[in-house]
Amino acid sequence: MQNERSGLLVILSSPSGAGKSTLARRLMEWDPSLRFSVSATTRKPRPGEVEGEHYYFRDAGQFRDMVAEGEMLEHAEVFGNFYGTPRAPVEEAMRAGRDTLFDVDWQGGQQIRASGLGGHVVSIFVLPPSLAELERRLIARQQDTPEVIAGRMEKSRAEISHWAEYDYVIVNEDIDRSTQALITILTAERLRRERQLGLGPFVRGLMQEESR
Ligand code: GDP
Ligand code: ADP
Repeated sequence: MQNERSGLLVILSSPSGAGKSTLARRLMEWDPSLRFSVSATTRKPRPGEVEGEHYYFRDAGQFRDMVAEGEMLEHAEVFGNFYGTPRAPVEEAMRAGRDTLFDVDWQGGQQIRASGLGGHVVSIFVLPPSLAELERRLIARQQDTPEVIAGRMEKSRAEISHWAEYDYVIVNEDIDRSTQALITILTAERLRRERQLGLGPFVRGLMQEESR
């Protein structure tokens, strides 16, 4: 049977350090056909981050030009840097029926929902089991100075305050269970009747089948 459907926009948000990058990576290991939306940012690359894979690293002038040219589906300031989602690859993936995974903050979530593509959005908010555990994870990641970690902790309550705008919430206690929850959400959302565009003709065919 033909199972055409338009691609989903799967949005993952969380306070920094709750585990959304880890979950995104695991979800893409489960389904390599998922496309990760690579954002543009004015933040400096961290050790190991690859241009075009983790982010498109741009200076403030280049970023402003992209916004002015209408190239961004959404953009926002987070932790004093600019972040934005290039529009063209998202639209291309949707047309091809491929699902796109977004790691964006609450502002990105709001703008994508309001962009006219909202009917294709599945949004998931990831919570830490506690703020103490969130801080422990930020420290264990060994990617930020104590000052940066303090800044992220300070912003965490503001990010968490947007949890109710999301379709699903995962408390990321055990990473395997959280990954399984995410897989379950995506599997169910893909099976929604209105999203399976080839279903009408298929069912008509079923009804017309000769019964023995
Ligand atoms: P992280 O907190 O370790 O993920 O640090 P990053 O600097 O990679 O990301 C900081 C925040 O910016 C996270 O909350 C991301 O979800 C968010 N972010 C990343 N890309 C985008 C984007 O394109 N748009 C928006 N609105 N937020 C983004
Ligand atoms: P985010 O993308 O939300 O900033 P990360 O995915 O980078 O968060 O996770 C922050 C740190 O916490 C990483 O070192 C990661 O390995 C770890 N981590 C993620 N999920 C869990 C979990 N369920 N239990 C323990 N540690 C976790």
